[in-house]
Amino acid sequence: MKHALVVYNSLNGKKEPFQSLLADHVGMYVCGPTVYSNVHLGNCRTFISFDLIFRYLQHLGYKVRYVRNITDAGHLENDADEGEDRIAKKARLESIEPMEVVQRYTVDFRNTMAQFNALPPSIEPTATGHIVEQIELIKQILEEGYAYETNGSVYFDVIRFNEDIPYGKLSGRNIEDLVHNSRALDGQSDKRNPQDFALWKKAEPEHIMRWPSPWSDGFPGWHLECTAMSTKYLGTQFDIHGGGMDLKFPHHECEIAQAESVYKKAPVKYWIHANMLTLNGKKMAKSTGNNILPNEMFSGQNTIFKKSFSPMVARFFMLQAHYRSIVDLSENALEASEKGFHRLVEGIEKLEQLPLCENSTGLDLKQWTQSCYAAMDDDFNSPVLIAHLFDAVKYINSVSNGIQQINSKDLNTLSHTMKSFFFDVLGLLTPEKGDRNGESSQLEGTLELLMELRNKARANKDFKTSDLIRDSLERMKIQINDTAEGTSFKIN
Ligand code: AMP
Ligand code: ZN
Repeated sequence: MKHALVVYNSLNGKKEPFQSLLADHVGMYVCGPTVYSNVHLGNCRTFISFDLIFRYLQHLGYKVRYVRNITDAGHLENDADEGEDRIAKKARLESIEPMEVVQRYTVDFRNTMAQFNALPPSIEPTATGHIVEQIELIKQILEEGYAYETNGSVYFDVIRFNEDIPYGKLSGRNIEDLVHNSRALDGQSDKRNPQDFALWKKAEPEHIMRWPSPWSDGFPGWHLECTAMSTKYLGTQFDIHGGGMDLKFPHHECEIAQAESVYKKAPVKYWIHANMLTLNGKKMAKSTGNNILPNEMFSGQNTIFKKSFSPMVARFFMLQAHYRSIVDLSENALEASEKGFHRLVEGIEKLEQLPLCENSTGLDLKQWTQSCYAAMDDDFNSPVLIAHLFDAVKYINSVSNGIQQINSKDLNTLSHTMKSFFFDVLGLLTPEKGDRNGESSQLEGTLELLMELRNKARANKDFKTSDLIRDSLERMKIQINDTAEGTSFKIN
């Protein structure tokens, strides 16, 4: 079933009907993490946004080849021309091999994404595994005349490229402004112009991560790896390229220039950028320390929140915002999401127990199903989809209370649509019973303790205490039932 899917293309700032380049196949490339430290929740938000997109395209019947790279080599702090490789720096500080750093944080990244129930990509190529392809690409750019070599390093010549093919299409920056705003070179630099960027850097003697090349023992520039790997696995033109908003410039702009300099055509049809997760109103980032790691949130071991939040609550929280909106992480917002998530889970669980009637009343299920698709077809609008799922929960509750009715055919439609959006598209999982969240299991434990104390009081004929416990709980709408088998409680 094909839908009128519309996606927002950062290339022109417009929503466009989605049409894949090759029938039912979609090629999607997303810039992956740099594995020199644990991913923080901000990084996770971007990857969860693309997991939603991956899942929905598959749900619509597309065969998606989803390539997400691992940056495991060679880019310097702030993409600078000088300085230390971040992976090598970490290795030096911890007295381990750079590849041990890479392994540790790649494993952490995969585990974290699995906790969020994100699907693994179809291909997860590494930069160090594609040095040969990167060297070949540099040779081609040099042959085309858009790069130059100085002292063993190779740079992309932005001004020369712009003479033939316009530079700045994605970010909207024009070359005059770039030239005007760039800091002047200090005379030490090998670059001809400040806006040029490295394709290959000659390694200083102390630089550990290095490979032989026709120009020097060195390492590739960061922008190059994504062009080399996306072309290798998706071709010289593919459907979707994604990443966080902060990668638009210079990273993605440089990718376009590299690809166009060789293949003379736009490499990507739809550029999709996910917006940032902020903490205390500021972008969550590794470098500033303004961040929280997923495990710190799941375990509650952090100084930011008073309680823990499960991976599914965090995922639901993120999906309650559109992927192009900025989201600020706060305890209040997370608590509201936790409540909402459990309301949704309870609604799904109630589906199995709804009483069936001859006729349905209350909700036009055909129209409701269409609205769910319409939300996702409108540039993957998960918050609107979730609002429709809550409408269904309201309906499920009123059927359950006998206010509305449902017949078996409609129940099938409702159940199928609810579950496919909840599990397959939003990628949510229902929590195990007793693991609803920290708060519910704490409440259950507390009630069990109160039951035990009440039983003891009754055994001692201390009815004043046992009645006090029962009456107080009943005022809190917690009902106690004494039967021959024992005492049970029910939260109303
Ligand atoms: P990095 O490892 O820093 O290259 O980041 C990996 C991905 O996370 C990139 O797509 C970034 O755009 C994205 N990212 C970084 N910080 C945030 C944030 N605060 N919110 C959302 N995405 C982010
Ligand atoms: Zn990239």
